[in-house]
Amino acid sequence: MGEDAPKVLVIGLDGVPLELIQGWANAGVLPALKQFMTDGATGHLASTMPPTSGPSWSTFMTGKNPGKTGIFDFLYRRDGDYIFPPVNTTRRDGKAIWKIISDSGKVAGSLNVPIAYPVDKINGPMVSGWMTPYGAKDYYHPPELIAALEAQVGKYHIYPTETFAEGHADAFMRASDALLEGLTHSALYLLDRYNPDFFIVVNFDTDRILHQMWHYLDPTHPWRRDSADRSAPVREYFQKVDASIARILAHVDPETLVIILSDHGMGAAHNFIVLNNWLLQTGLLKLKTDLPTQAKKLLFDRGFTLRNVHRIANALGLAKHAEYKLGYFTDALMKYFFLSFRNVDWLNSKAYSFGRHVGSIYLNVKGREPRGAVAPGAEYERVRDEIVELAKDFRARAGLARAAFGGRARSGLAAERTNRHLLWPCRFRLQ
Ligand SMILES: [Zn+2]
Repeated sequence: MGEDAPKVLVIGLDGVPLELIQGWANAGVLPALKQFMTDGATGHLASTMPPTSGPSWSTFMTGKNPGKTGIFDFLYRRDGDYIFPPVNTTRRDGKAIWKIISDSGKVAGSLNVPIAYPVDKINGPMVSGWMTPYGAKDYYHPPELIAALEAQVGKYHIYPTETFAEGHADAFMRASDALLEGLTHSALYLLDRYNPDFFIVVNFDTDRILHQMWHYLDPTHPWRRDSADRSAPVREYFQKVDASIARILAHVDPETLVIILSDHGMGAAHNFIVLNNWLLQTGLLKLKTDLPTQAKKLLFDRGFTLRNVHRIANALGLAKHAEYKLGYFTDALMKYFFLSFRNVDWLNSKAYSFGRHVGSIYLNVKGREPRGAVAPGAEYERVRDEIVELAKDFRARAGLARAAFGGRARSGLAAERTNRHLLWPCRFRLQ
């Protein structure tokens, strides 16, 4: 940036398909975004592979693809065991854009960007966002930042205080509105206090709300029993996002270069596959033969799965915060009751999967995994090719089964019906 270079402001809206914004903007309900698109340029970019928040924000901030950042998921494969902890910036290769700008002597600010913990000690304010460990006290820089911010803005929250549940939408929306208000107010405070040359603020709640309430927008969704237009609460939230953007835009110098973007899009998913179940069926993943494992397998075959128990807990409203607090698959107690990697006969297992949303399959490689079963080189290539062929065959048969049952029934294979929404590859917005 030269001396006269304009300042740069980036506003991230996590997980928002451009079509959703365009539809509402054209209908006149998002005036700030409508004006922004009229004045500027709009278009799609491809997201990362996989197109989920962890890899895509890491790629955005470093300019490197996931093969180079090393961030493929929210979890990573820890060397020497079969434990998959959450990723953080210490796992990432590549400098974040705010660090590069700060190192060049400019003032940079970063507010609520996902996968930004531990924070960079930059010349300017930084507050990490989603994937900051629950209860972390070192999620910001400089050290005096939060006390000063909270004195102006009130208690700062990274995470929402409510999770969506049917019949509970009003409280959920009120909590989401409060989080948005806190974020907007914090962004305005940091812009004033630090006058940064570069500033980014990300709203992660757009992703969370669309995940949890997509069925409000889609009358054909399996959760829906009526075809009424129930889009109002989601649309009203986006109207508040639009008003938040208007407030931030009104606050910055008109010469500022402004980019509004998302990290990936979203859509309905009526089926999903649990890849480890499929790997068990194909024999690539093998269970131990001991009695506790076989007893759990019997229960598993009758539907006593962690997912089903979560679903019941969710319906009863018991799963509040569970997604954040249980720490993704790492809760050891659950593994005593359900089939897990503890029950795997690793020396006879060639492949396994871990991660969330977009499954990745890993080979169980001799010399890399502690009880590897596949030799690097020719055997690795052969097993990998075998998995590719099995996956193609599975997809063809699942497609046939869906067609036979009108697209609604369980495929009869390892795919399960779902009420959740998978991330939809490949929609990005850049202005
Ligand atoms: Zn995302």
